[in-house]
Amino acid sequence: MSMQRLAILGSTGSIGTSTLDVVARHPDRFRVFALTAHQSIDRLFEQCVAFLPDIAVVGHAEGAAELEQRLRAARLSTEVAYGPQALDAVASASRCDTVVAAIVGAAGLSSSLAAARAGKKILLANKEALVMSGALFMRAVAEHGATLLPLDSEHNAIFQCLGTSSCTGAGVERLILTASGGPFLHRELDTLDDVTPDQACKHPNWVMGRKISVDSATMMNKGLEVIEARWLFDMPPERIEVLIHPQSVIHSMVAYADQSVLAQLGNPDMRTPIAHAMAHPDRVDSGVAPLDLTRMSQLSFHEPDLERFPCLRLGLDVLRNGCAASVTLNAANEVAVDAFLHEHIRFTDIARVIGHALDRLPPLAPTAGLDDILAADELARVTARQFMAQQTRGYTHAVAVH
Ligand code: NAD
Ligand code: MG
Repeated sequence: MSMQRLAILGSTGSIGTSTLDVVARHPDRFRVFALTAHQSIDRLFEQCVAFLPDIAVVGHAEGAAELEQRLRAARLSTEVAYGPQALDAVASASRCDTVVAAIVGAAGLSSSLAAARAGKKILLANKEALVMSGALFMRAVAEHGATLLPLDSEHNAIFQCLGTSSCTGAGVERLILTASGGPFLHRELDTLDDVTPDQACKHPNWVMGRKISVDSATMMNKGLEVIEARWLFDMPPERIEVLIHPQSVIHSMVAYADQSVLAQLGNPDMRTPIAHAMAHPDRVDSGVAPLDLTRMSQLSFHEPDLERFPCLRLGLDVLRNGCAASVTLNAANEVAVDAFLHEHIRFTDIARVIGHALDRLPPLAPTAGLDDILAADELARVTARQFMAQQTRGYTHAVAVH
């Protein structure tokens, strides 16, 4: 067993801290090469003290200066860098074997792609990167001999049930992604207008960053995940399904041609998929409590209600139409969720903003390169912001103040 040297991109987030929890349990297997954070300098400093990385990367020069000063005062030799190019550099550095892609949103695309092009083992949490650049990303992985392992619990479950990374030739009939339905599965529909950011971020089963928490409440998270599954497992869109399973015990399923259905079960704790992907093909302790099936009164399943969850409908439409509009879907969602978290638009406006951008903008060609993807991402953001400015006075005011 050789020591794996990890770059953990987004180490101060929910996935990043869970990853470091697993690292701390196995100092004989994992060593931290790089840690990165956008703004959380305090937390990143504490992580540097605990894990002694070679390099720490932050978003901006001021943060870098502050971190550098604190590290030197603590007599640590961790090198400090900042900005997107520094993220790409650590993701592709020869001193790193494994990249944990745990930055949230489109901000993680460039470094995830840099890791693929450098032929790294990539543990992918940053689903937005794959949603934006699916074909391009998977080509880079294949051409550069990278290894892509999913951290997203559903995709990690499917990977475990498949025993391989592609559905092609594996006798797979359907992929069934389970979804908890989030905090508003049973809330009165006519009260969804009044949902606050804190209510949307209070997930019944998982503790996560705020953006993915809102995505779970709208079920756009599942819309992004069906697209993620299409690319990760090379699965035809029409054979990817979503099933509501409020207990979050079965993390997803694979149905085979002989009607065997394989499922992966576990407590809802991201350290299980993280430990699985980190140690693959071995199995190691994740720190997660054993699953006690005798304490479960029921495991229930039902079809999602697309009236209640219009964002899921939009995601499924984009999937079924070949994913050519997935850049627009993702970018408009990021802008709308951010506006909702800042209380500039209502919860129910999120789907309207995304729907508007999808109606307005042309889909991307399958041959689109990175420049085309980034241009489409920017156009979708501008279109979404303009729509919000027309629709809500509060948002106009916020735009003017910025
Ligand atoms: P989070 O908000 O808790 O953490 C995000 C991390 O990214 C932080 O370290 C932050 O400093 C960094 N970051 C934010 N903006 C950045 C920028 N512009 N440039 C560089 N770094 C930046 O998010 P999270 O919940 O850990 O989610 C991370 C990713 O993992 C998301 O793509 C999410 O969809 C995915 N994911 C999360 C979970 C979960 O349980 N949290 C589960 C499955 C998938
Ligand atoms: Mg998930």
